Amino acid sequence: MSRIETVGTYLPPWGQQWRREAGPDEDVVTLAVAAGRAALSRHPAGGAGAGVTTVVLVSRDLPLLEGGNSAPLLAGLGLPDDVQVVEQVGGAPAALDAVVAAAPGTLVIGADLVPAGAAAALIGADGAEAELVGRIVRSLPIRSRGADGIGRDYHDPRLESQRGGGVAVERLGLVEPPVVVAGVALKQARALAADPPALPVTGASAALFAIGALTGGGVVLAMEQASATAVRVGSAPVVRRDEPAARAPLTLTQTPGPEIAISLAAYERAFDSKLRWAAGACDGCGTLAFPPRYRCIACGSEDGWSLTALPRAGSVYSVVNVHVPVPGLPTPYSLAIVELDEVGVRALVKVTGAPAGTTSIGDRGTLVLRRVAVRSGVPDYGYALLPDASLSAPDGADTEPAPAGARAPGGNR
Ligand SMILES: [Zn+2]
Repeated sequence: MSRIETVGTYLPPWGQQWRREAGPDEDVVTLAVAAGRAALSRHPAGGAGAGVTTVVLVSRDLPLLEGGNSAPLLAGLGLPDDVQVVEQVGGAPAALDAVVAAAPGTLVIGADLVPAGAAAALIGADGAEAELVGRIVRSLPIRSRGADGIGRDYHDPRLESQRGGGVAVERLGLVEPPVVVAGVALKQARALAADPPALPVTGASAALFAIGALTGGGVVLAMEQASATAVRVGSAPVVRRDEPAARAPLTLTQTPGPEIAISLAAYERAFDSKLRWAAGACDGCGTLAFPPRYRCIACGSEDGWSLTALPRAGSVYSVVNVHVPVPGLPTPYSLAIVELDEVGVRALVKVTGAPAGTTSIGDRGTLVLRRVAVRSGVPDYGYALLPDASLSAPDGADTEPAPAGARAPGGNR
């Protein structure tokens, strides 16, 4: 048994309301960071990462199989680099299994690319009780993808629902019917539950979106092909949603040709400052430099500096729209110099979440982790400005617990 203190959710703004697409600067790591930060923002102890000792990331779309996703994940979440990270390949049942098995201080995150979304559950000493009801692990690989990345779909929905999920649910022998079903289309969920809420995703994150959709205690059923896990959650947990309204994906131009190569020396040098959004504060006079500099720009001291977290809000000091085609960088995009609140530091960042040309001097925004480029196959993460004006999110407000309005007939396809 475990206790769920908070649930955080994130949906990219692109695509349809019930089927989102990841933006060109998003991957499973950036999606997971957004959901994880939402979950941690409500932590009673306050501040990101209070008391987190383990992060479990469940996905079938991990960006790197070698090279590591854990360090960017911890940096983006603002967690120290001695936190254990488990990168787990799995779908909705695996994410639900991770929740019930987790010790207090664990942040379980599920993240998916198609449909895109991420959700996180912070396991603590208090909160909604989650207890395993049953689990069935079977194999019917109707969709499959190997280490070569090549996917195959046998495409037999009837076989999948009747011999796959149908048999799994039958063997579970649930005494109490589920109130939410994760991992399947809404049509199939309706055959298993009386009035299940629609969920915007079907992968690993679906199990956590399902917990977030509870309006009271009940059984959450998570399915993937022929496997299923059922968990009873005692009450609706606190949910913090980062779910902007959906809009049409941007039309961007990809330029063929060799990409700009990565410099791993520069990557290593910039990593902590860039991914933790932190400036170097001069040990002598305290002046901030972003990125940090060997020699202080104010007093000239070369005696060292310490990383200091930067504010994540600011206003546009200057902005330019870039149309020049460069291989590896989808165009057009906007580059902004953002003046950060209170500290007087200006940073050059890309604009995200808004079409090029729609951001003006003086606009307010938030700095969010994004994949600013992929160089030599390596995701290059950094921060981008998400303009406040892009967040016209009627459903994006805090909900505590999840509103019944999360139900949408015909969604989840
Ligand atoms: Zn100085």
